[in-house]
Amino acid sequence: ILLPTDENHEQIRANVKNVIFSEVIPRPLDRNVRLVCASDEVLRNILDMDPGITCQEEFLDFITGRKLPYGALPVAHRYGGHQYGLWTGQLGDGRAHILGEYVNRKGERWQLQLKGSGQTPYARMHDGRSVLRSSIREMVASEACYHLGIPTTRAAALVVSDDFVIRDQFYSGCPRRERAAILLRLSPSWFRFGSLEILAKTGEISVLRLLAEFAIKEYFPEIHSTDENRFIRLFSEVAHKTLDLVAKWQGLGFAHGLLNTDNMSLLGLTLDYGPFGFVDSYDGGFVPNCCDGEGRYALAKQPDIVTWNIGQLANALKPLLTSSQQVHLSHILKTLDSYCKNKILETFLMKIGLKEERWGDEQLVEKLLDMMQQTGADFTLTFRQLSELEPSEMVSEIKLAEKWSLKRLSSHASWGCWLDQYRERLDKEAVDAGSLGTFEDERRRRMLNVNPVYVPRNWLLHEAIQDAEMNDFGKVRFLLDVMRNPYAVQPEAERRGFSAQPPQWAYALKISCSS
Ligand code: AMP
Ligand code: MG
Ligand code: MG
Repeated sequence: ILLPTDENHEQIRANVKNVIFSEVIPRPLDRNVRLVCASDEVLRNILDMDPGITCQEEFLDFITGRKLPYGALPVAHRYGGHQYGLWTGQLGDGRAHILGEYVNRKGERWQLQLKGSGQTPYARMHDGRSVLRSSIREMVASEACYHLGIPTTRAAALVVSDDFVIRDQFYSGCPRRERAAILLRLSPSWFRFGSLEILAKTGEISVLRLLAEFAIKEYFPEIHSTDENRFIRLFSEVAHKTLDLVAKWQGLGFAHGLLNTDNMSLLGLTLDYGPFGFVDSYDGGFVPNCCDGEGRYALAKQPDIVTWNIGQLANALKPLLTSSQQVHLSHILKTLDSYCKNKILETFLMKIGLKEERWGDEQLVEKLLDMMQQTGADFTLTFRQLSELEPSEMVSEIKLAEKWSLKRLSSHASWGCWLDQYRERLDKEAVDAGSLGTFEDERRRRMLNVNPVYVPRNWLLHEAIQDAEMNDFGKVRFLLDVMRNPYAVQPEAERRGFSAQPPQWAYALKISCSS
């Protein structure tokens, strides 16, 4: 840990060496601080707090960085990263403070981090703050992902102030004032691929070894500290966990939006929610991030991009490996494409109710996605509606009238043919399973558990943010509440159109990476 002084601030900003953290205290928000929302669940189950605590002044002081918890040692983490495919050098927590680790009643260890809590030595030219809109997006999406079953960091509470920062949200050349917010987020660890990359790139090999050993000891207890292949095993664990994560993303239509290596968690968690999006009408080329002109981080490219990122992690670990271990590592790398492809196929087979892969299944899934793309069918609701009907009902005009996304899909010329194949395929599985009736019920139950009704769509977030800008946090809180149960139909959410066809303007929404 480096303790920044008045003298060395500039030097840290440029580049420091042999440092993993810098000790630095948060700068609290000041004017008119209010609670936007909190996750009762995180407060209760992770932080052992009574959710009623959010009404107390002391709680606000805690989230806003004014009062640190007993025993806290606030630090900013130094890391680097490849941004849009290019090595960018030292980045680090420019506006986040890790307060320390909390061991809860269940014995779980969670690192608390404030985001938007002021400049650190890694802020470079930035102001150390986060704006309300991006903080709401991170708060709601990280909790939503958790309940959807996507490994993720968590979010406990969000406050906003009347302190202003300047952002050019749409790169219009006319920046405007926005309100600053602070989010309390949690993760077992905040290490990223970039945490190791920076040390390898700058030749800080003894620190690199120290950090890799530390990560193994703390987060991968199944790897023995004396195992001579421990770094290979660390790599393999991180790589596979990360690809398991990608399969979850693809299965739920989640595009992260900014898959730079500094945003890739060493624990295979979704990390740093920025210009992400859950796709509405299915499109593999979906790019939520308006700064990503080339579509590097498009939805369907995520598996390749993440595999490339894993290649950068491999490069970072190479200095710790013997030459034969390096050969071993490149062998593992070569297997990752097919591992990921299989995981994704497995995920989609589950979504259409198939337990194991048979010949022709891959084409069945591909054909479905093609038809969805060509008809503009909604990703989330097509799968949900496929779970709600018997295949024999999927040709009935009356039944389809109630299922708008499926109805749209059924306008495709190949729909009837696909449905025949699907039915045949289901029959094959049913024959093996025995009684047809119970098989059907069981299959649909399985499908309903993996195909959500609700995801935090950009248009829902957008509307919630617009109200929140006017200090009405009702929609943010409601969205957070709905997303606690994304697989259950909820009357009030239905009434508000959360699973209806999104409004026309929703399809044109682009998300800024200015945050
Ligand atoms: P991101 O693109 O959000 O992953 O951030 C990339 C880097 O920029 C990280 O090192 C952030 O900490 C830093 N950063 C982004 N915005 C700010 C800000 N307003 N103040 C300080 N650092 C920032
Ligand atoms: Mg980041
Ligand atoms: Mg960010």
